[in-house]
Amino acid sequence: MIDTTLTDLLTRLHATYRDLHGGTLASYIPELARSNPDWFAISLVTVDGQVFGVGDVEQLFTIQSISKVFVYGLALEDHGRDYVLGRVGVEPTGDPFNSIIRLDEFSKRPDNPMINAGAIAVTSLIRGADPTDRLNRLLTMFRRYVAHDVFMDASVFTSERTTGHRNRAMAHLMRHFGMIDDPIEAALDLYFQQCSLLVHCRDLAVMAATLANRGTNPLSGEQALNPTYLRDVLSVMYTCGMYNFAGEWAYKVGLPAKSGVSGGIIAVVPGRFGVAVFSPPLDEHGNSVRGIRVFEDLSENLGLHIFGHCTLGT
Ligand code: GLU
Repeated sequence: MIDTTLTDLLTRLHATYRDLHGGTLASYIPELARSNPDWFAISLVTVDGQVFGVGDVEQLFTIQSISKVFVYGLALEDHGRDYVLGRVGVEPTGDPFNSIIRLDEFSKRPDNPMINAGAIAVTSLIRGADPTDRLNRLLTMFRRYVAHDVFMDASVFTSERTTGHRNRAMAHLMRHFGMIDDPIEAALDLYFQQCSLLVHCRDLAVMAATLANRGTNPLSGEQALNPTYLRDVLSVMYTCGMYNFAGEWAYKVGLPAKSGVSGGIIAVVPGRFGVAVFSPPLDEHGNSVRGIRVFEDLSENLGLHIFGHCTLGT
């Protein structure tokens, strides 16, 4: 019975890695440093809407960098592939998420939409009559992915905004090269707002399942992303989604994924399910320590690596 097997598997993974200690909490703003290092949840949602979970699946936290995936999808819907590609590349950098911008020597584009510079450029592309309209379009988009209203953590937003000098510097450099348009402060605010949206682990699994389900939310049946752009979103997740661990992740786990500094990781198994793990302590790359181990185990256990079938007999 598949249900029993998945429940047993998630329960076993949670029990195995619950006692794995190590890693440090993100501390660049006080709100993240106050997380409980013992919070630990694993959620899995299938494309036919079955929901599995173990641990603190309803503990709220800010989505942070995981938001970059979904905002990239909206920018593609707003402008199309060619235009967005002209503004932000799709080359993995091997650099940390916040590395101070390395613009392509010739095009002046940020390398990819999963590093901060690229993500800020992507956010600046979101259409809307004014800042409120743009924020509402983002919230509406996230609502389609989670099938309920989404709210922002105001103190995280304020802290990100007050301390985000590095992000601000990147935005100004991109403005200098004409890669983002005025008003820059409004684009930065929207970027800080998207990072400060509150989700829980089950929400993230539903979002990943929506990507696994050709852009349609398996719980509500609502289309969250035009399937035309699914391959673009999944491709950058696969090559750039795990900070400067993306290559090793692709090699070992072999799934399109994205992590964030709050300790969330999502991964997409196209046509089958979405998975999310939440555990705040991070390794030296900024990825959740327990999250990495859970996904390595899960991928091995269920044979999820996207090239795994190449090694099977004919
Ligand atoms: N708000 C964070 C920043 O822009 C996002 C960091 C992350 O999750 O990678 O610095």
